[in-house]
Amino acid sequence: MSFTVAIIGRPNVGKSTLFNRLVGKKLALVDDTPGVTRDRREGEASISSLNFRVIDTAGLEERFDDSLEGRMRRQTEIALAEADVALMLIDARTGITPLDKHFAGWLRKSETPVILVANKCEGKAGMPGLMESFSLGLGEPVALSAEHGEGMAELFDVLLPFE
Ligand code: GDP
Ligand code: MG
Repeated sequence: MSFTVAIIGRPNVGKSTLFNRLVGKKLALVDDTPGVTRDRREGEASISSLNFRVIDTAGLEERFDDSLEGRMRRQTEIALAEADVALMLIDARTGITPLDKHFAGWLRKSETPVILVANKCEGKAGMPGLMESFSLGLGEPVALSAEHGEGMAELFDVLLPFE
């Protein structure tokens, strides 16, 4: 039986880049149904021999009138309800933002397990952000570069128990 992974986090941290890397050249379904589901993309993902369903929470920037936080929260609630595990991405080059902190505080109470992923960790520029991300209280971060494909073996290791 396959499991479902939700990719969550504030805009611009690299969620869609990771989604595309995980799904690869396989067809990524884009749901055109009006309403909240339109903001999500789902696909069949794999890292080496590990296969799972992945949900990209996207479109947080548009359509709803309320705050960014409110939109993130609603999108994430929908994704978490379906997921066995969530990857919370932060941008290690930018460092932890107040929105990341706020979001992490809320995620710590989630019943769905959350794995912290520090993205944009290629090179040395992500090092301070990676260290800083420990303070979110979501455990040890996985250092990743979705764009360059670094850290995928570590991602494999943390997702394997959910298979
Ligand atoms: P989303 O809004 O969370 O879905 O983020 P996107 O996947 O659209 O990426 C936002 C920006 O970050 C884009 O310009 C990406 O090219 C860039 N990006 C994504 N992953 C990486 C990475 O691993 N390293 C660097 N340096 N940039 C990245
Ligand atoms: Mg996106």
